Amino acid sequence: MDTLAAYKEHLREIGKLESALSLLHWDQRTNIPRKGHAARAEVIGKLTKMVFGLSVADELGEYLEKLQGADGLSEVDRASVRVVGKAYRRHKAIPPAFYEEYAVASSRSETAWEEAKEKSDFQLFKPHLERMIDYARKFAEYYGYDESPYDALIEEFEPGMTSAELKTIIEPLRQDLVPFIKRLMEEGKRPQDGFMKGTFSEEMQRELSLKALSAMNYDFDAGRLDPTVHPFTTTIGPSDVRITTRFLPDNILSGLASSMHEGGHALYDQGIPDELRWSGLDEGASFGIHESQSRMWENLVGRSRPFWKFFAPIAGEIVPQLSGIPAEDLYRAANIVQPSLVRVEADEVTYNLHIMLRFELEEGLITGKIDAADLPELWRDGMKRYLGVTPQDDAHGVLQDVHWSSGLFGYFPSYMLGNLYSAQFFAAARREIPELDRQIEGGNLAELLAWLRRNIHQYGKMYEPKELIERVTGEKPDPSYFVSYIVDKYSDVYDLS
Ligand code: ZN
Ligand code: ZN
Repeated sequence: MDTLAAYKEHLREIGKLESALSLLHWDQRTNIPRKGHAARAEVIGKLTKMVFGLSVADELGEYLEKLQGADGLSEVDRASVRVVGKAYRRHKAIPPAFYEEYAVASSRSETAWEEAKEKSDFQLFKPHLERMIDYARKFAEYYGYDESPYDALIEEFEPGMTSAELKTIIEPLRQDLVPFIKRLMEEGKRPQDGFMKGTFSEEMQRELSLKALSAMNYDFDAGRLDPTVHPFTTTIGPSDVRITTRFLPDNILSGLASSMHEGGHALYDQGIPDELRWSGLDEGASFGIHESQSRMWENLVGRSRPFWKFFAPIAGEIVPQLSGIPAEDLYRAANIVQPSLVRVEADEVTYNLHIMLRFELEEGLITGKIDAADLPELWRDGMKRYLGVTPQDDAHGVLQDVHWSSGLFGYFPSYMLGNLYSAQFFAAARREIPELDRQIEGGNLAELLAWLRRNIHQYGKMYEPKELIERVTGEKPDPSYFVSYIVDKYSDVYDLS
């Protein structure tokens, strides 16, 4: 067997085990009976070890060495060798004993964080956080970097992105959005949403979500929708991409938005061609690009005026209390802005400022400019400066997110990049589909999806985010698309003159 065939066979082995793992994880978070957890954890542990073993196997290293720069490889094969090679080197860079030590410390740290959050006592968490920061720095040293250790950590989630670049991307948000939000709150007219108050059955909400997902052309023959506590999307393979969502009894818009968000993730993965299956390229280009798809469907489509023209009669039919409410009123009610303390409850205007703060703090922690002991205060200051709100305790402040407790640094920026990319992609789609708004008004979302498939989905992980964005939009990542989208839309919704 030649090297390329052996290499592909090796990746297929990994891919099949990962597919099984995904199914086990999905089941663990949806249907597993309570008593099944202990044994399941062991099965998952065993499979994870097998996958890791294969992904750092010496023979894989030999294949990669032979194939790097080899003549006659197709574009897909070359991309596969590049992406798999990079992951291989990163995994190999970490000494197994160090990793095991970190895994134990990280699980202790998560437990400590849970307790600290419950008691709203940062001091309980502080020593663990300091340990996690030390580990993250050591990871960065093992991975290697040019300028900032933080760059080595972002690389895992957003290949090719650096903290220097992130700082320039963020600047317009600070310059323009912070004062805009202030103005919106002081001078804007908050939309009415009294007609949204009430309790809504899970069946009703599920039906509403199914209608939206069908309109999005989510393929139910290659997926399914289930309720869960923390919504997520699981890809078992390109033809099996499952969504979960969360229905709040007293907020019907929340469940709908969550379904459309996860639906956006799922459309991406359903659009990855069979040709890329188990090649190391059968996933999104990055976390940020993935999030751009979910945020586009959730916000640029799902919270748009054309969408509500289409969706208002459907919502009225399923939800009796919404029957007869004008589309315009529903649209405005779906776009209420409220600076708040908690990231996961943030609207699309304030969301990025939550992320901006986290990025500044975690970058400072990793580079040593910030001391963990000062975090609670820096958090309060930042919230006050950016959003004009101050947490009354650490549970609603610095302790709210799980990420840092498990040593996850460099992940937060993906959330923000997703929002920025989504606006830039949508502007490009609109240039190429001039009648896009009218199509959405008519409930015809097929051409938008076809555009995303053609420009983004079909490539899976073949291109790094920056290259992909330039191919699709002809420009580098540019935050001004997001800023003008927000300012235009909300000046109108809030009747700013
Ligand atoms: Zn990895
Ligand atoms: Zn998401």
